[in-house]
Amino acid sequence: MVYFFMWKAVIAALALSLWRKSLYTKRRAAFVPFVAEHKETGERIDLTQVMNPKTEIDQEQCVCPLCGKPFTLRVGLIRRPHFAHRGSECQSPYRTHPESAAHREAKLFLMQHLRSEFPEYAGATIQIEVKLEPIWRVADVLVTFPSGWRQAHEVQLSKITIGELQERTNDYTTMGIDVVWWLGRDADKEPNQQWCIETFGYSLSLQLTP
Ligand SMILES: [Zn+2]
Repeated sequence: MVYFFMWKAVIAALALSLWRKSLYTKRRAAFVPFVAEHKETGERIDLTQVMNPKTEIDQEQCVCPLCGKPFTLRVGLIRRPHFAHRGSECQSPYRTHPESAAHREAKLFLMQHLRSEFPEYAGATIQIEVKLEPIWRVADVLVTFPSGWRQAHEVQLSKITIGELQERTNDYTTMGIDVVWWLGRDADKEPNQQWCIETFGYSLSLQLTP
C-alpha cells in the first residue's frame, strides 16, 4: 500500500515536471522577430522603424528572412508589434537561439539607446536582427561605422559557457566583425565577466528591471 502511494506520487511529480517543461520550452522557443524580408525585393522590413505597422506594412509581402516562408504581422495591445511564422516553425540553417521577452526588450533597448548613450555611435548605422549568412548567425544589433568597421552587440541573459562565448565571438571575427557582449541575468557571472575582461579588456553588465 505504501509503495502504491509512493509510485503514485512519483508519477504525479514526473507528469508535473514534463508539463512544466513543455510549457517552458514552448514559451522559450518562440521565434518572434522584429524584422521581415520583402518577398520580391529582399528589402529589410524592420518593425522597430515603422510608426504604424498595421497601415504601413502589407503582410502579404513579408517573409521570414531566414527561411523565406510567409510571415504574419501581429499587432496587439500588450506585446510589441512582431512577425510570426504562418503555420509552421522556422526551419533554417541559421543558428538562432530561443529568445525570451526580456532578450527582445534588451536588444531593442540597445538599438535605441547606443547612439544617445555613447557619442562614438553618432554617425553609425545601427540595425536590429541582422542575418550574416557566411556564419549562419543573426546579430542582435549590428553597428556599422562610417569607416566600414562593424560591431555586433549580443545580449546574453541565459546561461552560457566560456566555450560558447568564444565560439560565437570567433564566428563574428572571421567576418571581421567585433563583438560586444552585454551580459545579464544568468550569463552575468564571474567566469564570463572574467573572460570578457581578458578578451576585450572590459565586461558589460545589463541590469534588467524585473
Ligand atoms: Zn523562417
